[in-house]
Amino acid sequence: MPLSDAAPPSLRITLLGTGTSTGVPVLGCDCRVCTSADPHDERLRCACYIEAGPLGILVDAGPDFRQQARRANIERIDAVCFTHHHFDHVAGIDDLRPLFYRNSRPMPCYSSANTAEILRERYAYIFGDNPYPGAARVTLRAVEECFAITSRYDDTGHVNVQPIPMQHGNTPTTGWRFGPFAYLTDAHHIPDESVALLDGVEVIVLDALRARPHPTHFSFDGAVEMARRIGARETYFIHMTHDVLHAEQEARLPDDVHLGYDGLQIEIDSTPAEAPTHTPSDVQSDA
Ligand SMILES: [Zn+2]
Ligand SMILES: [Zn+2]
Repeated sequence: MPLSDAAPPSLRITLLGTGTSTGVPVLGCDCRVCTSADPHDERLRCACYIEAGPLGILVDAGPDFRQQARRANIERIDAVCFTHHHFDHVAGIDDLRPLFYRNSRPMPCYSSANTAEILRERYAYIFGDNPYPGAARVTLRAVEECFAITSRYDDTGHVNVQPIPMQHGNTPTTGWRFGPFAYLTDAHHIPDESVALLDGVEVIVLDALRARPHPTHFSFDGAVEMARRIGARETYFIHMTHDVLHAEQEARLPDDVHLGYDGLQIEIDSTPAEAPTHTPSDVQSDA
């Protein structure tokens, strides 16, 4: 699909989940975060839904996808972008199937070549040459360069997408840039060439596990430093553990850096002068 020269459409981003791989509360844990009454401290596994004009794009389909799609009223997905192959980002692939009941056109899925190879192997009954008859009708495309997503419904709409290579321990992961917005999860390092691909981005969502250092994720200090290098107007942290009490940590962050939370919506007008807005009332507590 050719790239578009047109201005990017206005974006509405919904953070479907903002927790680390266990989710928060952690099963069996009675710590102050896992027992917190603040709904901001309930975190499903990370995923993000991006509405770009008429298009709906999902980043990752983890084990909580079905519940997330229900509470965000997601009725339409035109494409899925996978960050990497870990369980907390792909285990909901099968729950994409109901989206084919009313529109049987295959669902394009995008990932790095490395992730595509692992997904093809692990989910051979979906992505293999002879898929199981009832499996989700998905096509998996390995991408390295900027490409365009169009409607799975009527070929209208058009958004350019830039893959952003990152490092998550020894695992290569992919961040995704949609015009003025980039979603950068599961990384402890973003190389200089990838930071350059983020030039001019207005809003980012960035991995920030907790205060203490971790070998495969940014800690808060490292994430703030990376946010400074990228230079977006607003940064939202995700993939937090039960070390992180929302209200306490939010108060410690710089003014332009916030903790994401499940249900947070961010709107970015296509007019670059407009500031992004977030609406704290969007938090959902029906988990
Ligand atoms: Zn993860
Ligand atoms: Zn806990």
